[in-house]
Amino acid sequence: MYRSKQRMTQHITAVIFDLDDTLIDWSGQEIHGAAIGQRHLKQLYAYLMAQGEAVPAEEDFLDCFGEVLVRLWNQAKLTWAGVSLAQVITQTLQESGLDVAQMDMDTLLRVYNWQPVPGVRPYSDAIPTLQTLRQQGYKLGLITNAMQPMWMRDVELETYGLLPYLDARVTSGDTGYMKPHPAIYERVLNLLAVEPTQAVFVGDRPENDIAGANAAGLTSVLISPPHLNYQLNGARPDYTIKRLSELLPILERLEIK
Ligand SMILES: [Mg+2]
Repeated sequence: MYRSKQRMTQHITAVIFDLDDTLIDWSGQEIHGAAIGQRHLKQLYAYLMAQGEAVPAEEDFLDCFGEVLVRLWNQAKLTWAGVSLAQVITQTLQESGLDVAQMDMDTLLRVYNWQPVPGVRPYSDAIPTLQTLRQQGYKLGLITNAMQPMWMRDVELETYGLLPYLDARVTSGDTGYMKPHPAIYERVLNLLAVEPTQAVFVGDRPENDIAGANAAGLTSVLISPPHLNYQLNGARPDYTIKRLSELLPILERLEIK
């Protein structure tokens, strides 16, 4: 998957970011694992009850969702396909014996009502760095391996004040591919109208963010904040930083080349 970076360096015109633990800091998260989604799933369950649907016991419904989620993600990882929340909900409802065909998925997703996770916040230098990049004329993008549609994660971006800076944004759930599949990088590059060699990608997971950016032909920057300790496992970032603001001198150096 890795190809040599001995290539012509083009003028960098775009910077594309991962979201979780790259722009926003999960080190202070107050709820973990399945509990994060269950807050929302319970709202969906209550809605189905109120609609008179023949739902199973709440605990069984939550368990079913959890099993479906793990199964679909594990399956998807074999080919780096993207799993969507709509797919997971559909499968859960079917396995719970409900007639999904006569339900409106958009309504169900709105009832799910995804919100920022308590204790998660943008890194202190996220907005200043994005502001500087914007002032310097870079196009800015975002790629997240998330099953939510982008409009749901936009709710978070809006809360954190990050939304106005990110011109093109995609989730793996929407795109049908997850990082490291090159197709999800190509999607955002197309939206930004830039070539891979004109773009830098910043992410925290070597095997997804960095391996994918390299395979897609972008310049890769690994952000390695103190609370994370991922192994490289063969992924080779072009640059490694500890804080987002360290990106600025790297871009200056790429500019001079
Ligand atoms: Mg991440």
